[in-house]
Amino acid sequence: MAAFIELQGVCRDYPAGEETLRVLHTIDLRIDAGEMVAIVGASGSGKSTLMNIIGCLDRPSAGRYLVDGQETSRLAPDELARLRREHFGFVFQRYHLLGDLNARENVAIPAMYAGVAGAKRRERADAILSRLGMGERLGHKPGQLSGGQQQRVSLARALINGGAVILADEPTGALDSASGSEVMAIFKQLHAEGHTVILVSHDMQMAAHAERIIEISDGRIIADRKTAVATPVKMLPRPPAAHDSWQALAGRFTEAFRMAVIAMTSHRLRTLLTMLGIIIGIASVVSVVALGEGSQQKILKDINAIGTNTINIFPGKDFGDMRSGRIRTLLPRDAEALARQPYVDTVTPLVQTSVVLRYGNINVNGQAQGVGADYFRVRGMELASGRLFGQIDVRASSQQAVIDDNTKNSLFPDGQEPLGAVIMLGTVPCRVIGVMKKSESNFGGGQDSLNVFVPYTTAMKRITGEYWLRSITVRVADAVSTAIAENSIVSFLTTRHGVKDFFVSNLDAIRQTIEKTTDTMRLLISSIAIISLIVGGIGVMNIMLVSVTERTQEIGVRMAVGARQSDIMRQFLIEAVLVCLLGGLLGICLAFAIGWAVRSSGSDFAMIYSPVAVISAFLCSTGIGIVFGWLPARRAARLDPVVALARE
Ligand code: ADP
Ligand code: MG
Repeated sequence: MAAFIELQGVCRDYPAGEETLRVLHTIDLRIDAGEMVAIVGASGSGKSTLMNIIGCLDRPSAGRYLVDGQETSRLAPDELARLRREHFGFVFQRYHLLGDLNARENVAIPAMYAGVAGAKRRERADAILSRLGMGERLGHKPGQLSGGQQQRVSLARALINGGAVILADEPTGALDSASGSEVMAIFKQLHAEGHTVILVSHDMQMAAHAERIIEISDGRIIADRKTAVATPVKMLPRPPAAHDSWQALAGRFTEAFRMAVIAMTSHRLRTLLTMLGIIIGIASVVSVVALGEGSQQKILKDINAIGTNTINIFPGKDFGDMRSGRIRTLLPRDAEALARQPYVDTVTPLVQTSVVLRYGNINVNGQAQGVGADYFRVRGMELASGRLFGQIDVRASSQQAVIDDNTKNSLFPDGQEPLGAVIMLGTVPCRVIGVMKKSESNFGGGQDSLNVFVPYTTAMKRITGEYWLRSITVRVADAVSTAIAENSIVSFLTTRHGVKDFFVSNLDAIRQTIEKTTDTMRLLISSIAIISLIVGGIGVMNIMLVSVTERTQEIGVRMAVGARQSDIMRQFLIEAVLVCLLGGLLGICLAFAIGWAVRSSGSDFAMIYSPVAVISAFLCSTGIGIVFGWLPARRAARLDPVVALARE
């Protein structure tokens, strides 16, 4: 029968400064399936090095190593991991159990990497633990177990994937003699059942339990003797070959997810502090976008209510021109002439003056707005009750008034019927014929002022006594662009007046300015938020690097029991992504909380949370997790199992 394990001229060198230190010298060794072998030797003689090569944790520097006839020296790390999963079970002197998991979960880890379903592997773990006398301690964590009990858990872990070859490096070294003997008895029992057992010990008494003792000194085998007649070998049933189905992958994924959650919850404060950068970054991005969106939409709604195809003409050079009050050249005739231009849809002149409004014994200050019949249409204002005045009323300078909602509330506080009532505008009596709806818009008049609209002819003749206008509002014909109409108006009026003693403003220009400013603001604040996210990401990377360093031994153990590089990578990547996602989620909650606080403070700010912003925040945090978690995860995955295991 071919040897199950065969070393041919195996050497192992370690670099030591300029030179190399040869720790194993051309070892030739065959071990058959079912043997129980003890490797003994002084400390530093190379026993552990030899064990690591046998267990495919380490590779020989020279020579060939064959497992079940398969040459291992050219295998990739993941193929070595498969060999470890399928053939070997490791028992370490210091147990190397994962402290955050209980006995059952520790035992189940190798089965998880081998693709056994969750329920099945728990069942198998329970059965093996019960067999080793640990049935009462399934839910205990390593910290709650004695040394002997922990070693039994690690034995169970070595057995769960079959454990055809059990490799035990000083398994009793840390135990008192009673527990040591118990553990040895288990090894003998396993050997009797057909497991190949390879023990390392510096204790001859322990080694005497084996039927073959190999003595090693300074990296050379100096003796290899049988102490007893080999017991007839029972062949172990081969465990079913592991399959890499998508279910197995999903199982490993869930497990990695669970491990990430455990790692995060075992360092809650640290996790929270790590997330802070992400939380602040995401919260500011989402709030800024929501605020920008809210204010922009509010302003645009106001503008659109008036219509962007209107052009206002004012006397003077510009807004804030001190002399504009003395310019008296903007006349009703101009408005009439403009109304006849082909690019004009409607025109409404405006004169405006403050008056005392009086009804019964109520006196209030208000604005008399002398307007054309089309004013209401141009401004997008709606009637609540009654009617508007028409062209005929304008021509007749009739004393009819349309009042706004504020005026109605002030002059008719007790709910009297305003329609038909005669109110006084200063000394001029006017009959109320209509009431306007409350305006949402902030433009034209403001929210708090009281406005009474009368025909501009009435206002000029009877109230102001002026013959000039305060402004003209032109609604551009539908087919004409606002810019062209604006140019035409300017040249038309300049010709009429001889000089340009007026200026025009159009809301489309204002709207464009507003859009541009909010876009610039958004870009600016977003770039600040992105910087904060990058800083947050670097924080995540930093903590993940710390975490990898802290858990190097855990990584070594996982590799020893058969984790692939991708398994390790996935575990740390998931942890990084989870930290960022949770940070993102908290950030979004914070943003909503800010919005809620703003709203309940009664402020006028509107925040509009677009689903796009929320979704991009999530994608963004996932991206940060992947980008900044990648380096630490790769570092973890590329660790050398022997080096990782040796790290304290
Ligand atoms: P044993 O298990 O028999 O006590 P080891 O196999 O652990 O001995 O070590 C054998 C020799 O190899 C020792 O002299 C040790 O210093 C050396 N050695 C082990 N690991 C390394 C390493 N990673 N780098 C350099 N020297 C090492
Ligand atoms: Mg050793």
